[in-house]
Parts: sequence; structure tokens; C-alpha cells
Amino acid sequence: MNYTKLSQEHINSLQQIVGKDDVYTDHENLEKYGQDETEDFIFKPEVVVKPKTVSQISEIMKLANAYKIPVTARGAGTGLSGGALPIHGGIIISMEYFNNILQIDERNLQATVEPGVINYVFQEEVKKVNLFYPPDPASWGSCSLGGNVAHSSGGPKAVKYGTTRDYVLNIEMVLPNGDIIWTGANTLKYSTGYNLTHLMVGSEGTLGIITKIVFKLIPLPKHDLLMLVPLPQLKKLVRQ
Ligand SMILES: Cc1cc2nc3c(=O)[nH]c(=O)nc-3n(C[C@H](O)[C@H](O)[C@H](O)COP(=O)(O)OP(=O)(O)OC[C@H]3O[C@@H](n4cnc5c(N)ncnc54)[C@H](O)[C@@H]3O)c2cc1C
Repeated sequence: MNYTKLSQEHINSLQQIVGKDDVYTDHENLEKYGQDETEDFIFKPEVVVKPKTVSQISEIMKLANAYKIPVTARGAGTGLSGGALPIHGGIIISMEYFNNILQIDERNLQATVEPGVINYVFQEEVKKVNLFYPPDPASWGSCSLGGNVAHSSGGPKAVKYGTTRDYVLNIEMVLPNGDIIWTGANTLKYSTGYNLTHLMVGSEGTLGIITKIVFKLIPLPKHDLLMLVPLPQLKKLVRQ
């Protein structure tokens, strides 16, 4: 695909959408947002934008779609597989302002969050009401829930509890043409049409921009034990 290079007119349009203060073209920011935690790669975007509302993201996507400008979503930039690297330049949409926990529904064991919420912050908040969100990538102190969904991240607790995929009920997302959709419903049983929710999980930002996530929660375990199993040989770990 041949992509369009950004012109000053495109930058002006982006400034009209999100405001001048949230459009960055300076060297320092382009370099900062041109890398994540993947080795030493740097792919500088042509512009970084920090939208504050879903409708602003929709407008950005419409503009990019009309002019064939590449768009890369970015959470906290802790990815190790280059998903947030803008290899074709274009626009980085940073989701850092989308950092609100919108609702913790204690009766239905669910929470609705914005994708920029940090995993650790979310875990601590749900703990306060005796609920538990298990996915625990080692980067949990700095990675965002949107990035976790886009990578279906998991950590040590995945062995017992599963990964991010197992906790996503529904997603609000902005499609490449600017349409805003919900992928499913806030229920465990939902069998209408294709499973767009699970299509989005693990899609690494290639299908659209995640703007809200509804997570399933479970009751906070009463006990938390660390088990130490001494093994004379590593291969005995996989023997029954
Ligand atoms: C020290 C360290 C330890 C780590 N440990 C683990 C681990 O134990 N398990 C594990 O799975 N990973 C681990 N990671 C990798 C990384 O932290 C995870 O993949 C994490 O989920 C990335 O989240 P992020 O917010 O930093 O996303 P980013 O790096 O910003 O982006 C990751 C991907 O998500 C997409 N994305 C981000 N936000 C959105 C959005 N709103 N809509 C659409 N797409 C979006 C990006 O385009 C990109 O493809 C580790 C990383 C580090 C540096």
C-alpha cells in the first residue's frame, strides 16, 4: 500500500480536531513515540496526537482514512513485539488521556474502563471492593489495559486464571473509517454473529482503536499462597 506523507494541511486538520496543544511534531516527541521496549528500534511517526474524546478519535480516523495516512495506536509503550512502532510513519494516537475507570459494577462483577488505565491501578481499585482482576504481566506497574487487550497479555497467574482474553466481555472501538462500535454485550453468553470481541483481543492495534473495555471480574481470593517446589531436574516439572 502506498501511504500519503502528512502535509501542513493535515497537521492543521489534526489541530482543529484535538486542539493545538495535543499535536506534537517536535523532534523530542517524535523520537520518544518512535520507540517502545522492543530492542533498539526507532521508527519516527510524522505526528503524535493525544485525543481526549472518542469522537475526536473518530474524526482522526476519518481524516487518515480519506488520505491513506497510517495510524498507530499507543498505550504505555512497554510492548516487546513492536506493535506500537509506526513503521510507516504517519500518526501516533496516544491513549494516555483515556485513563479513567468508568464503573466498577460490584453486583455483576464487571468493570468498564478506558484503555489508558494502568494495569496495577485497576487491580488495586477492584481489590478495594473485594474483587479480583487476575491478568498480571510483569510490566503491570506501567502497561495499559488497552495494550494488554491488544496483546492479550498475561503473567504468572495465567496458569491458574488465564490471560487478558479470558476477562474481556465487550469493547468499544473506533474502526478505520471512523465508525464507533461495541463488539458484543456485557454478558457471559452472547452468541449473535461473529465474536468481534475476541477478534479485537490480540489484534495489536491493526483493526481499530479500543476506546472502552468491559472486563469480567472474580471475587478476591481469601488466601494468597506462594508455593515453592524444589526440583532436582527441570524436566521433572513436566512429568505427571
Ligand atoms: C519489563 C517488561 C515486562 C513485561 N512482561 C510481560 C509479561 O509478563 N506478559 C506479557 O504479556 N507482556 C509483558 N510485557 C510486554 C508488554 O508490557 C505488554 O505487551 C503490554 O500489554 C503492553 O501494554 P502497553 O500499554 O505498553 O502497550 P503498547 O506497547 O503501547 O502497545 C502494544 C500494542 O497494543 C496496541 N494498542 C495499545 N493501545 C491500544 C488501543 N487503545 N487500541 C488499539 N490498540 C492499542 C498498540 O498498537 C500495540 O500494537 C513486558 C514488557 C516489559 C517492558
